[in-house]
Order: sequence, then C-alpha cells, then structure tokens
Amino acid sequence: MTVWLLGDQLNPTATPLHSADHVLMIEAHGFAERMPYHPQKLTLVFSAMRHARDALRDDGYEVTYVEAESFGAGLDRYFEANPGDALVLQRPASHGAGERLREMVEERGGDCTLVDNDGFLTTPAEWDEWADADGRSGSTYRQEHWYRHVRRETGILMDGNDPVGGEWNYDDENRETPPDDWSPPGIPEFEPDEITREVHAFVAERYDDHWGSFDLDDFVWPVTREQALHALEHFVETRLPEFGPYQDAMVEGEWALDHSLLSPAINLGLLGPREVVDAVVDAYYDDETAAPLNSVEGFVRQVIGWREFMRHAYRESMPAMGEANQLDQTRDLPEAYWTGETNMVCLSEAVGHVRDHGYAHHIERLMVLANFALVYGADPHELNRWFHLGFVDAFHWVTTPNVVGMGTFATDALSSKPYAASGNYVNKMSDYCSGCRYYHTKTTGEGACPFNALYWDFLKENEETLRGTGRMGLMYSHVDGKDDEEWAAIQERAAEVREMGADGTL
Ligand code: FAD
Repeated sequence: MTVWLLGDQLNPTATPLHSADHVLMIEAHGFAERMPYHPQKLTLVFSAMRHARDALRDDGYEVTYVEAESFGAGLDRYFEANPGDALVLQRPASHGAGERLREMVEERGGDCTLVDNDGFLTTPAEWDEWADADGRSGSTYRQEHWYRHVRRETGILMDGNDPVGGEWNYDDENRETPPDDWSPPGIPEFEPDEITREVHAFVAERYDDHWGSFDLDDFVWPVTREQALHALEHFVETRLPEFGPYQDAMVEGEWALDHSLLSPAINLGLLGPREVVDAVVDAYYDDETAAPLNSVEGFVRQVIGWREFMRHAYRESMPAMGEANQLDQTRDLPEAYWTGETNMVCLSEAVGHVRDHGYAHHIERLMVLANFALVYGADPHELNRWFHLGFVDAFHWVTTPNVVGMGTFATDALSSKPYAASGNYVNKMSDYCSGCRYYHTKTTGEGACPFNALYWDFLKENEETLRGTGRMGLMYSHVDGKDDEEWAAIQERAAEVREMGADGTL
C-alpha cells in the first residue's frame, strides 16, 4: 500500500503508515509561489520533508520523493512509473484540498482513499457528536464548552469527573507582566545541517522577492522529529513554569518570552498534539512546583481547546468563512505591516518579529497585529493573506479562523464580540508604551496613541452590528457618554491616523 504524505503530515508513526510499505512525497515548488510565503516557512517545510524522507527510508519504507513544479506534475511522473496505483491520503485540514487531490489522482488513472488526519487529537465525528448535543450557543460555537468536553472525554487533567485543582481555568493567575530586570530563558538552538543549508540556498535564489528574513541565523525552527522532541523537552524544563503568568505579556526586544514555539512542529506533524499535552501534564504530576497548574492548564487549553476547536470550527464554517466580512471592512493594510517602519513601538516590535522569525506570540498576533487592523478598518482577507504568507506556522485551516473569526470578527461563528481594545490594553500588558513617541493616555490631538481614536471610531462606525451583540453593553455606555465635540475630535484623529497608515508615516 502507498501512503501519500503531504508536507504538513510528517508524523512518522501516523496510522496509515502502519500498514504501508511505500510512501509518496511531492515537493511542489510552483505551489510555493501561490503567495510569497516567508522564506523561513519554505525552508522549514522543504527541509522537514527531506529529513522525514530520509528517516522513513532508515525505517525501511520505500519512499518516492518527487521534486516538481506542481502536485499535478508530480503526480504525472508518479503515475507514469506506477500506473493505476492506489494511494491513501490523510484528509488535508484545509478546505476542499482532499477532494481536489483525490480528483487529480483519479484523472491520472489512480485511486485515492481519504482517511482521518492524524495531526489532531479529535476527529470530525467526535466534534459532530458534541456539536449536535451542546456545541452551539445561538450561531456561535463556544471554545470553553468544547474544551471541557475534550477534557472529560480524554481524562486529561481530570480527577474523576472534576478538573484537577477544582477549576477548569486559571486565567486570573495568568495576566502578569514580568519585572523590569527580567529576561526570558533561552530558546533551543539547532545548527542547520547540510540539508537545511541546501534548501535555504535554493529558497533564497528561487523565492528572492518574498517578504521576510533570508538570514539563516534567524532560523530557529526544528526540522526533524528529534529536534522537535528536544524543543518540547526544553520548553517543559525551562519555560513552562513561567508560561502561564507571562502568557499575555509583551516585552520590548523579546520575541519568544516563555512561549513554546512549538506550533510549526505540531502543524507539520513533527510532534503530535497528544504527546505535547502529555509531556506538560506529566511534568505537573512529577513536580507541581516545577510545573505549576496555572501554566500547565493554560498550555493544555491552547492545544486541546483552541487548536482543536479552530480546526473543527473552520471545517464547519467554510467556505463562508473564507469570504465573511460582516463589518464590511475594506481598507488596505497600513504600510507598516510590510515595512515594520512606524513610530508605534508595539506595531514595530510585532511586525519585526514576523519579518525576522515568521513568528509573533499569541497576544502580539491578537491584540497588536489583528486588533490594530480591526480598529483601522482593514480588509480581514488582506490581513488573513498577510498572516498566511508571513508566519512559519500558517496554514489556511488555522490562520483563517484565527484571523477572520477571532482577530477581526468578520464572522461571529467563533466569538460573540470583537477583540477590540485601545492603547490602554497594550500599556497594561507590555512595556512598549513608556518608550513610545505616542501617548497611550491621549485619544485625540498631536501625539495621541493611534489605537485610541481608532478604537472609538471603530465602535461608532460599527454600532449597528455591535451594539446589540453580547457583552458590548459596557463599551457602548462609554460611547454614549461622549458629546459631539469629543466625537468630532475622535473622527478627525482617526482620519489622520488612517492617512498616516496609508502613506507610511504612522
Ligand atoms: P504557545 O503560546 O506556546 O501555545 C501552545 C500551542 O497551542 C501552540 O503551539 C498551538 O499549537 C496551540 N494554539 C494556541 N492557540 C491557538 C489558536 N488560537 N489556534 C490554534 N492553535 C493554537 N496558530 C497557528 O498555528 N498558525 C497560525 O497561522 C496562527 N495564526 C494566528 C493568527 C491570529 C490573528 C491569532 C490571534 C492567532 C493565530 N494562531 C495561529 C494561534 C496562536 O497564536 C499560535 O498557535 C501560537 O502563537 C503559536 O506559538 P507557540 O507555539 O509559541 O504557542
């Protein structure tokens, strides 16, 4: 039996491999030009694929590895040599991809059976059962309900029928910012080997107009299963203890903080979600002081709650989610998203992290990059494209629900209110504002933080849609408290900020 492994299906123990002797992998170079993906993303995927190929061969599989312009051209070559072959493919997570690939195989006289994707902890059938029973609240799926359901079903961090420690959620302990003299533990280093260097040179030559750092010194991502396991172990030993408390913090000059940086490895299949969660939970049972519950639960929730939830909610909401724009936001992204050049320290830091590493941590993604685009009125699909091409861990199935659903409220399928905030939030959770040219305390006039006028203007512009949505009452009571003179000043400043955004002088 032949298993066709895609570049994000590199788990060496995936179920279909158990009964296979032959593996097909296609490295499609033209496919990588569909959008200008970050050079590090391309280096990561191609290098990880080549390392997986070699590891599978070492394990005794026969591997046909095709370098081609497209999947079509790769399949042409494969079926010329293996006419009528039957392939087994894990259903790709991105919408419609499974059917498209199956048709391509059938057009070439082959057969393609789609099976469950091993890169997730829960199956579509499990989600359907939950969604039919108690998944929906109005038109919206609730992550918290799903998360509790998965904990109960799997027994992860459970004490009989109750959550370990008595609470489902320790978020109130997880909103600290580190002291001034704090610096985060280091991240693991992986010396690029010959394969990675060769791929990197190819990427630098072929995709030389793509956005993002081509400097191999900035490339920190594990490309083999061994490296990914080492990264997991390193995270559990060094950064997990502070992961919880500093999960939402932002510190100037620090891009990784205590985050796990494991999303690229998990999304490529180099690590399985269950083994990642088990490693963290085991650390808690081994020593609660070295792996405190607020950190452990916080991390577990990200993986079995958010990651699984986003995958299924995306499946359910596509293709509508791919075009949703309930707030009718159509402005171009500010220039600073491409140049990183802005006087706003928060935006300059976050964009810089993406350019240099293809990564920004969750709160930068949500509360700086997406939040700013949201209140600015940027087109959510242009923002989605920016995230998709800019991040090493980006795939349509995960970027789209996070950007279109969570970050920009272009659909209400995932949350009942937008994650919109003013400069106040950034000031509370970071040290960015103290050195910023803009004043986070000022809403209008010269030097006022761009977030502030945009925030109020956004609420006013979208009043019709937002006022009635859940949990917006308090915000609209502040909107109602402003007089005409204040609104005129807010609108003037918001227009000025949008002009600066467009002409690159923000
Ligand atoms: P940690 O903070 O250490 O979290 C642990 C793990 O939890 C992550 O590795 C990831 O596997 C999982 N996780 C946490 N939150 C989410 C979530 N909302 N959705 C899916 N998985 C989650 N994640 C991606 O994998 N790819 C993306 O393209 C992506 N785009 C995003 C865009 C926006 C606007 C937002 C708000 C979030 C996005 N996320 C995305 C989710 C999350 O920000 C990243 O998974 C996380 O920052 C990755 O870094 P980490 O591994 O250090 O995560």
